Amino acid sequence: MANGLTYQRTTSTPEATKQLASTLAPYLHPGDVVVLDGDLGAGKTQFVQGVAAALGVRTPVTSPTFNILLEYGEGRIPVYHYDLYRLDDRFQLEDIDYYSAIDGDGDGVAFVEWAEKFPEDMPYDYLELTVTVEAEGARRIVAHSYGARSRQLLCVWANDSKSRLG
Ligand code: ADP
Ligand code: MG
Repeated sequence: MANGLTYQRTTSTPEATKQLASTLAPYLHPGDVVVLDGDLGAGKTQFVQGVAAALGVRTPVTSPTFNILLEYGEGRIPVYHYDLYRLDDRFQLEDIDYYSAIDGDGDGVAFVEWAEKFPEDMPYDYLELTVTVEAEGARRIVAHSYGARSRQLLCVWANDSKSRLG
């Protein structure tokens, strides 16, 4: 596996988190997987909202905490938004098409909150975003690539977001 890249930014408002997320959208391809880590209320779903809007999803993106999976088909590529927080058993992952969404061969991009609950079922190649609550509404977002494909994704995204956001 290629060495992982790390890229870090701090956002001071929910809007800034969504704006940062929007800069990732142009580089996403079908089969890409983004895993979001961080406490409840950190801003993982906010990030997904920003990407989805930039992909052209007009439906409001809500938290899939109760649904486990919410899909949005109307953007440039399909968005599969998973939240495994309430999933009890890894055998249920098959029922929600998790494996086909994370095997790198999917027809859309998969965003996964609480993937770390099922360490045996981690994607093969994924971009990990760890969101940490800082003082006064700020969030630290640390991106790390696990695999050659996500390394490439992170490389282009980091360059672009640096030039757009400073
Ligand atoms: P998670 O999916 O991680 O559980 P959400 O994205 O659903 O969290 O909620 C994050 C909450 O934190 C929202 O209510 C949002 O308004 C608030 N918030 C405050 N500051 C920020 C920030 N800088 N970035 C993202 N969210 C923020
Ligand atoms: Mg969430």
